[in-house]
Amino acid sequence: MIRGVLAAILCSVPFSCVAAATCPDSFSPRAKELLADSVELMESEHKLNVIYFIGNDNEPAADYERRLSELLLYLQQFYGKEMARNGYGNRSFGLPMLPNGMVDITVVRGKESHKKYYYSGEGAELCLKELEEYYAKHPEKKRSQHNFVIMRTHYDDKHNDANPGGVPFFGYGVHCFALDYVGFDIEHLGQDTTAGHLLTKWYGGFAHELGHGLNLPHNNGTRTQNTELGTPLMNSGNYTFGYKPTYLTPASCSILARSETFALKGNKTPYYAYQQQPEVEALHVAYDGDSIHISLRCTENHTVNAYVQDPPFAVNQDYDAVVFRVPEKGPAQAGKQLHVVSIPLDELGGLKNIRHGEQRVDLRFCAPDGSRYRTYVPIQWENLKPGDVIPCDKLEFVKGY
Ligand code: ZN
Repeated sequence: MIRGVLAAILCSVPFSCVAAATCPDSFSPRAKELLADSVELMESEHKLNVIYFIGNDNEPAADYERRLSELLLYLQQFYGKEMARNGYGNRSFGLPMLPNGMVDITVVRGKESHKKYYYSGEGAELCLKELEEYYAKHPEKKRSQHNFVIMRTHYDDKHNDANPGGVPFFGYGVHCFALDYVGFDIEHLGQDTTAGHLLTKWYGGFAHELGHGLNLPHNNGTRTQNTELGTPLMNSGNYTFGYKPTYLTPASCSILARSETFALKGNKTPYYAYQQQPEVEALHVAYDGDSIHISLRCTENHTVNAYVQDPPFAVNQDYDAVVFRVPEKGPAQAGKQLHVVSIPLDELGGLKNIRHGEQRVDLRFCAPDGSRYRTYVPIQWENLKPGDVIPCDKLEFVKGY
């Protein structure tokens, strides 16, 4: 009887009310359709700073509030659903919201012509410097340490709304840059049209750069994961997002779970304050003919991920680093936690697909406050014989990704 009454109450809530709770009336029919299966996200303690940065001589592209709100909320759902699939619950980056259900996008006007904020480290740094000046005057607008800065495409002999660009478009540290153009609209999502392909290129990039700005390095999935799930967002998912299956790896989700804007309401952790190199001991790396086996003990409460990487070992040459979570084994003892993983060569595509020369297994550590360090073990695959133990007694640590 009670069950019958409850069922009647649930059934009496029309589906459109569920959608209306997340979608303002002003959203496009396509956005309402795409957001209809939204999951309810847990409330976050810190919100991403969503900044639309313009020069002293331009304006945001038309209808940016609706267009970017739709795109951001859909992306927030993607991250939230991937976190849930990986066992972290319905958690995503927090977005600042307006009472009307739109995203609270802060428009910041720079002191210089928009051309001064061009695609370069210099252009980005100038923007960030002025953004800090803005926050000094409007501290309530700085909701976390993470800045997602959107600029309007330049209009010159190379760039326009049909070929956007010219502005910073990358992520580093806690910052990332993406762009906006007339036609950057979720109505084109997944369409096999010129506007659809253009949207995937720039929306996929928007999603991928945000990943960097939320602490994620590049990575590839294992052969099994890629067969089942598609392309990792932090691999070449910027070319597939919204068009073909795209996903976040377990390693990416483990890092996001310790990223400031994913902290749940009430979590007062001072993010990125710890910055201590983890203590690593008893690192053992061995090969048995089928797999590399890694075990180590490190400072407790750190997550560990192993990235198998080809040369060259440089920025933006690491998209294809296949990543494995290195899970904890047993309880911590005397402040140290054992982590163990096996990396089957088959999941790397087999030995025939591994390039010759020195390779690396990068070990990346993340503290509870999101502080990160990495080190690596060099491996010469072609010289390995079953039973070999890889020497790794000298570890050098680097801060950051
Ligand atoms: Zn990237």
